[in-house]
Amino acid sequence: MNVAVDGPSGAGKSSVSKAVARENGFIHIDTGAMYRALAYNAIKNNVKVFDADSVDEMLRNTKLELKLESNEQRVLVNGENVTGKIRTEQVSMMASEISKNPTVRAFLLDLQRNLACEYNVVMDGRDIGTVVLPNAEVKVFLTASAEKRAERRYKELLAKNEEVEYNKVLEDVIKRDKQDTERETAPLKPAADCVIIDTSSMSFEESVAAVTKLIKERM
Ligand code: C5P
Repeated sequence: MNVAVDGPSGAGKSSVSKAVARENGFIHIDTGAMYRALAYNAIKNNVKVFDADSVDEMLRNTKLELKLESNEQRVLVNGENVTGKIRTEQVSMMASEISKNPTVRAFLLDLQRNLACEYNVVMDGRDIGTVVLPNAEVKVFLTASAEKRAERRYKELLAKNEEVEYNKVLEDVIKRDKQDTERETAPLKPAADCVIIDTSSMSFEESVAAVTKLIKERM
């Protein structure tokens, strides 16, 4: 069984998907982490992300691996565990930039589909219900107001001692929404057959329960 969870940044997709997967005995795949890992790699190696040839060359030289350790997803790029290094604002913006590239998307698509073939997954991202797993049994579009999403992200970054201002985080959230929804390849949009869940005034537990309910109904 495949569960697709899409939505804009900060809607709580990853944390909700992780809890839903744990509750229902599924494996959680955070596809944003894959784009982030490639973005991190591009920054580290000074790859010109607007130049298709440079990105192609980077992909040829990149081995991306997802590993599960006690139910936690680890992302490795060429053997380096980058899991803790990909959550910065710089990597977020670069991931949104690099994800516009169709070659990058095709590179990750295979990896994502193979995982969904092999396991019962809750996969979260932007294009899971529309492109990656169009036949997923459950499709959810998790959303919330931009202000609420920025507030959550801001608190997350503060907790990690990153120096940030709320207004800058809100600006970045709005910019990423625009980039993600307006790109040509696999833009962020709700699948025609998805259930839209607005978490603006829902607690984390309520969001998890809402998705679990949909899974139980399909089972
Ligand atoms: O979900 P997260 O915020 O970690 O994703 C980082 C970026 O990766 C997003 O802003 C989006 O541009 C891109 N992404 C994507 N397709 C996915 C998952 C993430 O384009 N399935």
